[in-house]
Amino acid sequence: MPMKGRFAPSPTGRMHLGNVYSALLSWLSVRSQGGAWVLRIEDLDPQRSRRSFAEQIEDDLKWLGLEWDEYFVQSERGAIYTHYLNILKGKYLTYPCYCTRADIMATQAPHESDGRIVYAGTCRPANLEHAWLNADSHPLGRKPATRLIVPDKEISFVDAHYGPQSVNLARHCGDFVLRRADGAWAYQLAVVVDDALMGITEVVRGRDLLLSAPQQIYLYRLLGFEVPTFCHLPLLCNEAGQRLCKRDKSLDLGEIRKSAHSSNSVLGQLAFYAGLIDRPEPVSALDLVPEFSWTKVPIEDIYVSK
Ligand code: GLU
Repeated sequence: MPMKGRFAPSPTGRMHLGNVYSALLSWLSVRSQGGAWVLRIEDLDPQRSRRSFAEQIEDDLKWLGLEWDEYFVQSERGAIYTHYLNILKGKYLTYPCYCTRADIMATQAPHESDGRIVYAGTCRPANLEHAWLNADSHPLGRKPATRLIVPDKEISFVDAHYGPQSVNLARHCGDFVLRRADGAWAYQLAVVVDDALMGITEVVRGRDLLLSAPQQIYLYRLLGFEVPTFCHLPLLCNEAGQRLCKRDKSLDLGEIRKSAHSSNSVLGQLAFYAGLIDRPEPVSALDLVPEFSWTKVPIEDIYVSK
């Protein structure tokens, strides 16, 4: 299969420096291997996604010189996700779940280390073959979410940057949602179906998603897809040591584009953080291609000052 990477932003706000760091390293990895780069707009959350944010992301990537070869929008792909959800349903691997968020919070204590909630299997039926028979007749008229059964065993993989990882899905997250009760598609299903159908061979993204990979690998295997290489990245953190997020306004591209001398000065700073150049000097994306190597990229998170 030809080498292919992707950048898959959720258009729920302006990109911040951490998003650009992921985009740049994915793009450089692809360009240095002569592969193709996909831009996929992950606008699955109807309440938070906006077309205008997607357009802004596209404009920011062009400003940076990170051109893509293929372009997709997840909100146009519902029929494809339905097809794969039905395959899992047909194998009796899913069940309807009527738990509200409040129900789940009331029965499960969040995980001590990171606040994760492990679903306790409250709605998991004894007989999975009959799971969907009366799904539309909930006494309170509730619509169900669709959950996927997970096995009580370790899913192991080798991350190309962080090395061997192993997660027991039953203990890490429990049966997880593939489609929400309001019909919105869950990230885990959409990302796997899309990466597989788009022929993605290398997934590069922040290490905040490192432990989502086992959920995704489980889905790849169930659907008979080939698992790509996962290569997670250190996170960019603010001065307080927290991962950059939409609240760090001064490090979003709107502010940065107002104050930066050029896109090349932003790229130079990021390339310096990635260990690709010795000093944060202006440099173009294309000039960085010959400098790129995964062995130069740090493992530790990176502190960014304003
Ligand atoms: N859309 C996800 C996000 O913006 C990233 C998905 C991925 O790279 O797997 O957090």
